[in-house]
Parts: sequence; structure tokens; C-alpha cells
Amino acid sequence: MTQVKSQSVFLTDKFGRRINDLRISITDRCNYRCVYCRSGTGGPQFPEMPIADYLRMARVFVGLGITKVRLTGGEPLLRRGLVEMVRHLGDMRTLEDQPLDIAITTNGHLLAEMAQPLADAGLTRVTVSMDAVDAGEFARITRVPNGYERVLAGIRAAQNAGLSPVKINCVLLRGFNDDQITAFGRFAREEGVAVRFIEFMPLEEDRVWSPEIVVTLDEIVRRMAEFMPLREIGHARSETARRYVFDDGVGEIGIIAPVSHPFCGHCSRIRVTSDGKIRTCLFSVREHDLAGLMAHGASDEEMAEFIVHSVEHKEERHHIGEPGFVPASRTMVHIGG
Ligand code: SAM
Repeated sequence: MTQVKSQSVFLTDKFGRRINDLRISITDRCNYRCVYCRSGTGGPQFPEMPIADYLRMARVFVGLGITKVRLTGGEPLLRRGLVEMVRHLGDMRTLEDQPLDIAITTNGHLLAEMAQPLADAGLTRVTVSMDAVDAGEFARITRVPNGYERVLAGIRAAQNAGLSPVKINCVLLRGFNDDQITAFGRFAREEGVAVRFIEFMPLEEDRVWSPEIVVTLDEIVRRMAEFMPLREIGHARSETARRYVFDDGVGEIGIIAPVSHPFCGHCSRIRVTSDGKIRTCLFSVREHDLAGLMAHGASDEEMAEFIVHSVEHKEERHHIGEPGFVPASRTMVHIGG
């Protein structure tokens, strides 16, 4: 595989945002059917590429200034060859000759077995999605029995493998699991994990989103404070989460508020779907077919040019909740979170 020539300018869009965070979906399959994400019946809709193809794309992106790669899906831990893939990513170097920051977003169902091999292969960070800290409620959300114990074991295995602090992502739906807010506060303190609440976005298969279902940042802070007051701590400009610690310094809470406090102006992300399409925004209605170009024998240089051109079309911001909002051309599970 030829090395892409270093560019003197990092990948930057027309609004001056530097793009250094690549998210690759390595499968469209998932072993959970979370009520706010998948329909109960629909399966995967898009094909997977060979791992070598994702790695080639990643190498070209890294040659353009990408410094962080997050593997996602579908459920990335279902993908055979994942550990090897992480090892290959670990061999890559950024334009500043640094190792990549390599992360995975997972539902954690298979993490107990895989945390140590992934850490050994060079994984830097893991984010586990978890929408309840009660076994019954967890099963109701994921529509899979006995997942809670497995995910808890996965989180602990990841902490033991040195992937700490593990981040936990929780999507709250009003009237469904928003009774879990303070329980998650306790969980963060007891398990030593950073719990991050994500506002529900209109990216679900069943199209149930409404502004009323979203539990907003302000409400979460207020309700958590009834359990114990929170103190805001600083966060990097491009970081999506507002970060807080409890008053006594024990337990971190983050809130990712794309609906009530959009952060598009600081967006540094670009995504590749499992079938090799570039998405410049979660809410894109248009994709850029990098896999198609590759299949036609494009060189690394041609792929790099195509990526630069795609980034020129990166959307300025999303329009959630505005009149005339156009839904994204794919839902979250088929993009990669
Ligand atoms: N299977 C992996 C997992 O569970 O983390 C990766 C894919 S999943 C689609 C990635 C993340 O997207 C999860 O944290 C999930 O909760 C979140 N997500 C899915 N649909 C969402 C929506 N409509 N709004 C906000 N977050 C959503």
C-alpha cells in the first residue's frame, strides 16, 4: 500500500473547521434492537467491506491530518478481524508522527471477552452505550434478555484492561428511562466511569422523535442536582460533551446536547459508513462514494483528492427542530454513532 504524500494543509472545510476525527462503521449488523434506534424487525441494510479496505481508507485519511479514529457500527464487536484491525491502526502515525487515538463505541455485550485483547492491540479508549442501570429496564430498551450483567462485566473488564475511565453513553427518553438519571449518578461514582447523557436526535428507524421526548441538558443538570449538586469543569473547544463533577469531586457526568445546545461550529468529525460512503454530517442527505472510487482502481492520491473535495461540501450545521427539517438519508445505526 503506498503512503499518501503528506499535505502541507490539514483537512479543513470551507467554514475553517479542521477535520481530524474519523468515525468508521465496520458493520451494519447489531445484536441489540434498542427501541429508540432500531425498529424491532428490521435488520442490516448495507453491506460490509473487507477490513483491509477500511484500513486503506483510514491510512489515506490519516495522511490528510486525521488524528483520532473511532470504530463503530452497527455493533463493531460483532466484526471478525476487529483486534487485528486495531493493531494495524496502532501502527499508523499522524502527520505529526504521533500514534492515533483509537476508540470504539460498543453496546458492551461482547466486551468482557474482548477488552483485554483490544487493549493489547492498541485501543486507547472505549465508550459503552447503556441506557439503564436496572436489569429489567435495560432488557426493555435493548429488547434482549440478560444483557445488563454482560455489559456491566464488559465495563469492568475494560477498566481492568487499562481502558479507563470508560465512558458510558446514555440516551434518555422522557417517560421511558428518564427515571434513571440519579441512578446513573450513583453508577458513575461507584464504578469510576464517566457517564454521558446524549440528547435524543431524530435519527431513529421508527421516526418517533419529537421535541417533547428529548430530556435536555438543563433539565438533566437540574434533576441530577436534586441528588447531589454538580460543578462544571472545563472542556476542549471541539469536545462535544459539557463536563461536570459532583460537588465532592467524585464521579464525572457529561452531557452531549446536540438538540438544545448544538456544537456544529466546533465539529471536527467525518464518517465512513460500513459500505464505504463518506458522510460529512450525521444529518447529511448526500453521501460521497469512496468505496466506489476505490473499486474502480483509484490510487491513494485520487482517494485523498476525493476526500478533500467531499469535505468542501460539509454542512454548516444541522437543522433539528426547525421548520422544514429534512431527515438524514440514513438512521444512526446505519451511519455509525
Ligand atoms: N452498537 C454500538 C453502540 O451501541 O454503541 C455503536 C452504534 S450506536 C448506533 C452508537 C450510539 O448512538 C449509541 O450510544 C446510541 O445510544 C446512539 N444513538 C442511537 N440512536 C440515537 C439517536 N436517535 N439519538 C441519539 N443517540 C443515538
